[in-house]
Amino acid sequence: MMYQTYEGMDIEGTVLRIEKSSIFDGDGLRTVVFLKGCPLRCKWCSTPESYQKKIQTTLDGTITYGQIMTVEDVMVEVRKDSLFYFHSGGGVTLSGGEILAQPEFAYHILRRSCYEGINTAIESSFNADWDKIEPILGCLDTAFVDMKLMDPERHKYYTGVDNALILSNIEKAGKERRPNMKMIIRRPLIPGVNDSKEDLTALAQFLGDLKGVDHLQLLPYHRLGTDTYRKLGMEYPLAEIEVPSEEHMQWCKDITEKYVKTII
Ligand code: SF4
Repeated sequence: MMYQTYEGMDIEGTVLRIEKSSIFDGDGLRTVVFLKGCPLRCKWCSTPESYQKKIQTTLDGTITYGQIMTVEDVMVEVRKDSLFYFHSGGGVTLSGGEILAQPEFAYHILRRSCYEGINTAIESSFNADWDKIEPILGCLDTAFVDMKLMDPERHKYYTGVDNALILSNIEKAGKERRPNMKMIIRRPLIPGVNDSKEDLTALAQFLGDLKGVDHLQLLPYHRLGTDTYRKLGMEYPLAEIEVPSEEHMQWCKDITEKYVKTII
């Protein structure tokens, strides 16, 4: 099906990959578009190939990460699963990297999807100036926002950036989101890094006092992606961390649920 010309259709961005039929990144079956580029350097990151916006190749030259696509190129892929969205309540999810590292590209994909009646979601850390986030909220059904640590010093040590901007943006988004936009906060639980009773309590109290947060989701740390570090000639910074047990996840949930609805 050919679509008419629309504003922003020729804007180019770097896409890491596109995954079809995901059930983990929003309602129903989703097409997940991963964008390259991220200003953070989380020591537990499972996608080091997403750090840089530019296209990269592994040391042995066998794998290339990323491709240049226009907004319309992405929409062609997204539209292919329209029937699945209709039957499952799904849609498109933009993920990263950090989608706000390519704000104009992200905005136009979301805007066009919204115009075509496709459900929209993003996964972001909200580490960007507010003027890059505000326009996106107008064409968004669900925002999954990561809150990795409440302690500012530890946040900087483990992610490379301060968390003041992130907290301020989450507060603003809660107040200024569209009434039917869902904001879900995610905490990837990294044992020994951000699973203390103090940090979880601070997180849950912050969210409990906030407008516009649907719930908190606790995600267990996993070790996927460690091979990619090796292929890119990088060192995996958290080599000794164990995956949290189900009992530990429940212990964390018991702490946060006193203040905010929590799922694991
Ligand atoms: S924000 Fe996500 S993509 Fe960026 S470094 Fe952290 S875990 Fe990796």
